[in-house]
Amino acid sequence: MYKVAIVGRPNIGKSTLFNRLTRTRKALVGSEPGITRDRLLEEAEWDGKRFQLIDTGGIVPDDRDTIPEKVLEQAEIAISEADLILLVMDARAGLTPLDQEVFSLIQSSGREFLLVLNKVDTPRVEDETYEFYRLGVDQYYPISAEHNLGIDDLIDEIVSRIPESGERVEEEEIRIAVIGRPNVGKSSLVNRILGEERLIVSEIAGTTRDAVDSVFRYQGQRFRLIDTAGIRRKGRTRMKAEKLSVVMARRSIKQADVVFLVLDAVEGATRLDAVIGGYAHDAGKSIIIVVNKWDLIEKDTHTAARVESEFRRRMKFLDYAPLVFVSALSGQRVFKLLEEARRAFEGSRIRIPTAELNQFLQDEVGPAMIQRDSPRKFPLKYAVQVAVGPPTIVLFLRGSTKLHFSTVRFLINQLRERYGFPATPIRILQRPSSKWKGKPKVAT
Ligand code: GDP
Repeated sequence: MYKVAIVGRPNIGKSTLFNRLTRTRKALVGSEPGITRDRLLEEAEWDGKRFQLIDTGGIVPDDRDTIPEKVLEQAEIAISEADLILLVMDARAGLTPLDQEVFSLIQSSGREFLLVLNKVDTPRVEDETYEFYRLGVDQYYPISAEHNLGIDDLIDEIVSRIPESGERVEEEEIRIAVIGRPNVGKSSLVNRILGEERLIVSEIAGTTRDAVDSVFRYQGQRFRLIDTAGIRRKGRTRMKAEKLSVVMARRSIKQADVVFLVLDAVEGATRLDAVIGGYAHDAGKSIIIVVNKWDLIEKDTHTAARVESEFRRRMKFLDYAPLVFVSALSGQRVFKLLEEARRAFEGSRIRIPTAELNQFLQDEVGPAMIQRDSPRKFPLKYAVQVAVGPPTIVLFLRGSTKLHFSTVRFLINQLRERYGFPATPIRILQRPSSKWKGKPKVAT
């Protein structure tokens, strides 16, 4: 649903405006600054168009020093969650430095916003609003939430911006699971990514109970780190922590598009790493192998290649996954991970049109198989890509036998060479024409 967020300093009438727009009395309204309440969400409907209104008033601290910080934080939440922001300022109080700061933040985010000047309830106040022109916006909306003035114009403007279907134009989000055994640096990595000032971050409720995800933007792309609260929470004993890491991995992999499999450069790839990586592979997720603590490795010119081949040898089944050396400690190449995640996500969504796929398999892959001394021709009747994320191709075969494992591998490599599918497992389902029973066998 289309989301509209109200943002602004405490005690400037945000709650009153919220109530006007939703026609409810849910928000607590008080004249004393620093009133405490939770973030409010309410559906509103005007002219048959619905939107969700978010009052980011949230928990406004009593402490004067922390108010600016909280207000900016709320603006960031609005930027990452809302389609439209109502930036409210107090016309009587005039333009304050904090207003200007929030304004710059929102303006630089590129999010749509309306500048709303509240408490314009006498002509005298109206005369004084010219100072807000300093902000350089073409239009502002003078209102009095309390006296219900100017509200209709504001609503007309909001409603005119809601797309016809009333639905929010869903923004594509890349969901990332950060997994790995204890102490490889998962939470350090998460902190490093989220701590970066270039990002606009908000914590929002995750899909599973008690989980808190972090949503942020990087280079215009929206990302979601799954269960960041869980990653930071520590297990008590070593035994328990290892088990927990597996449980958490399985849970977060399910919700992810892309998995960061974090390994420790010093300790190398262990059995548990392979087990955890195996879950991501089996789930058909795009995988980036993250070799962390790279700062601890003494390097010469061959180190990277040597270490990479050692990791690859132990994780053969992840041959399609790019491997990135990072340091959560220094931040080295941490942002490369986000770029890789984006590539991986796009790769996992490649869809090959059926005619093209069949032409490629019949005309190019088939003959290449014969050249490889395959005992017989590629007995393909027809192929179709039935899914993306992971790309899944069903082969309808002549005859009753399935392709040999090595043939499937060859086929997958050919598909990769032609179409890329970076970081993503490719699934091949085989359907021989006779004697076929039960579920098709899955090979990746
Ligand atoms: P988690 O259990 O996977 O979340 O691991 P933590 O993030 O708690 O990190 C485990 C330990 O490794 C901590 O002492 C971190 O300070 C340290 N650590 C994490 N990343 C790096 C890194 O890139 N370089 C170095 N030198 N230490 C790191």
